[in-house]
Amino acid sequence: MSHYVIGMDLGGTTLPCAVLDDKHNIVARHEVDTLRHEGQDAVINRMAQCILDVVAKAGLRTEQIMAAGVGAPGPLDGRKGIIIEAPNLKWYNVPLAAILSEKTGVKIVLENDANAAGWGEYWAGAGRGCSNMAMMTLGTGVGGAIVIDGKLLHGPDYTAGELGHVVVMAGGRECGCGGQGCLEAYASATATVSRFEEALKFGWNSSLKGKENISCADIFKAALNGDSLSEHIVAETGRYLGMAAATLANLLNPERLVISGGMIKAGAILFDAIRQTCKEQAFDTPAARMEIVPAELGENAGVIGAAGCALTRIQAGY
Ligand SMILES: [Zn+2]
Repeated sequence: MSHYVIGMDLGGTTLPCAVLDDKHNIVARHEVDTLRHEGQDAVINRMAQCILDVVAKAGLRTEQIMAAGVGAPGPLDGRKGIIIEAPNLKWYNVPLAAILSEKTGVKIVLENDANAAGWGEYWAGAGRGCSNMAMMTLGTGVGGAIVIDGKLLHGPDYTAGELGHVVVMAGGRECGCGGQGCLEAYASATATVSRFEEALKFGWNSSLKGKENISCADIFKAALNGDSLSEHIVAETGRYLGMAAATLANLLNPERLVISGGMIKAGAILFDAIRQTCKEQAFDTPAARMEIVPAELGENAGVIGAAGCALTRIQAGY
């Protein structure tokens, strides 16, 4: 019995894809541009070709691949393999798993991209060795994934795990979801930049004052160099994350919370604030048990996790 699986990440810009063995080693990797402006059919054809190319690169035949996992933006129904709505790609009700499977001859497992990345950390990264884990990914938004008793939490509508929309401020900042005061509206990389720019407008001083197109990386680098406004903003991001972390600890009692995204490079300034706030807010017992740690897989989390999801689905027999 062969033991190879494929993981692919359907991103807005690139389509990274890898063949893994069941010990989560990457044996071949391939990546092409998404070119989403060419439309749905062209992108799906490119995904199929990318899968076939990475199999060839690994020196394998498609019959030797157990399944391919595809991490995709949602909402989606992973059980049926359908992308319900991917506004970024302008895709609606696309039976992606069936189409890709038809084109490649490989069984396709579809998973929400944040869940796939979370499963990657659980399977092969910072979540190894625990049974209950959550992940928050700080990017344009705040992605979430929850693993309970060794299984990704999906819910009946496949929408569970949206940690970015835990409310951390009643009546607070508007969120892209239509709600107010969500974690995502405060602690995403994008929101961190917005809060920083607002503080500058209020007259705060900073070494980044006058710089065009300030990025989140600029802010945490300035924070590491002792810029006090940057330190304050990064720590504030940490406090919002800590509040959501406390809710998570009280609700689900996970052993570990993994934080991923470029901002984790801010290190102690961010993590001390998350841990301190969580300790203050959560019940003593679960707060003491939940470790809060940085992700380990970096940009490979998506493909590794998608492959892990495929393997898990095959092993579970559905
Ligand atoms: Zn929201």
